[in-house]
Amino acid sequence: MAKDKLAEYTAKRSFDATPEPAPAPIAKRNGPLLFVIQQHAARRLHYDLRLECDGVLKSWAIPKGPALDPSEKRLAAQTEDHPFDYASFEGVIPAGQYGAGEMIVWDCGVYSPDEGNEYWFHDREEAERRVRAGLDKGKLGFFLRGEKVKGSFALVRMADRKNWLLIKHKDRFVAGTDLTALERSVLSAATLDDVKAVPLERLAAERLAPCGPMESIPTSLAPMHAELGEAAFDHADWMWEPKLDGYRALALITEERVTLKSRRGLELGSFPRLETELAKQAVSSMVLDGELVAFEPDGKPSFNAMQNVQPSTPVVFYCFDLLHFAGLNLRKAPYRDRRRWLAQCLLPSALVQLVHASEQGKALQQAARDSGLEGTRRASTRRASAPPRGSRLRRRRAAISWSAAIHAARALAPRLARCSSATGMPRSCATPRTSARDSMTRRSPKRRSGSSRCAAIRAHSPRSRSCIVQQCGSSPRSWRR
Ligand code: MN
Repeated sequence: MAKDKLAEYTAKRSFDATPEPAPAPIAKRNGPLLFVIQQHAARRLHYDLRLECDGVLKSWAIPKGPALDPSEKRLAAQTEDHPFDYASFEGVIPAGQYGAGEMIVWDCGVYSPDEGNEYWFHDREEAERRVRAGLDKGKLGFFLRGEKVKGSFALVRMADRKNWLLIKHKDRFVAGTDLTALERSVLSAATLDDVKAVPLERLAAERLAPCGPMESIPTSLAPMHAELGEAAFDHADWMWEPKLDGYRALALITEERVTLKSRRGLELGSFPRLETELAKQAVSSMVLDGELVAFEPDGKPSFNAMQNVQPSTPVVFYCFDLLHFAGLNLRKAPYRDRRRWLAQCLLPSALVQLVHASEQGKALQQAARDSGLEGTRRASTRRASAPPRGSRLRRRRAAISWSAAIHAARALAPRLARCSSATGMPRSCATPRTSARDSMTRRSPKRRSGSSRCAAIRAHSPRSRSCIVQQCGSSPRSWRR
């Protein structure tokens, strides 16, 4: 079936001359439908929007790219269906071949038909049925959860039947931001120029967006635990994130209710404003791991403020992991994948925020110092393979203040000062992404004496100094039901 749909795709290409994937049978998939937007420097620069449906990617070429302003109707020329595997393609299509030029994965994530704020992230069959019907009648409303692009859109077919318009619906993700200023790949951080020079590792297309075995939403989970560390280091197996001084919490979100649980599985008190915002995640079931944070009057996160929280106090849930989404158990996937899926699936708002993570531990620690946010820092590392320990107290004691990654330092500082007035824009829209490579080259490489020690991790060393670090390659064995 999919083969016939791909006849036009195949006819246009010689697979011995282009690195693009030839059509191949794909395994039956479950979970939400995938979308991808590829930036493509062909004869004319454009953005290829692709929506997974019935085993292939329905495709449109959008010269100006997507816009978050409902008055900006963007022309979207329908092109031939592409194979599902095309979703992760980045590289160079050689001169003389169809669509010759560079291509990157500019954004990706999951999507659902959107009919009056009703969504089918959890029901693939029904979602595909509605997408098919919408495309047949020439009008499809759909909701995107990508790293750069979030919110509700419509594709509307014009009279010539080949051209469509991509129009942003009015919702809380409307903005005047120029999304195309964000020019890096969400997979490799490469720009179109970079892919000419650097061979890129190809990710399996299904890993672009949440995938895993089906399950009903878990009722309790033992979260991954913290370890203390001496200093930042750079290693591809580890990612770094800021340490925030609050209550570790799991948010279990269903259509009926939101439950906040401590790492010991106890229900945390009532946070009505936060729970109302978490209920707006617009999905049947979702489990987020993060930190509940309250603030001192000077805008600093404070454990003390968290302990003395009043019903009127704004409490922000900073999310660093996604454990379950729309009926999928994500806990067997590597942390790096879960981080990508979190950035896509989380719909941020004033009180629900994404914590950034990066591999560049040393640069991030340096950047945190440069940003003036260092304070009294103590270390904590989180590691996927660490055995569960009763470390909440240790973690609290260790967490005198926080040390921030460059993204977090830049993005959090203004937000902490006015946490109750944050806009709810996804950060990747609000702030052009600074890649770790940028921060490395723009900053002075000279080391400060205080950061010269990069010692081993000691769980009981209360004077150590670092950020949170997360081993991202391995399967997180410490997750258990
Ligand atoms: Mn194209």
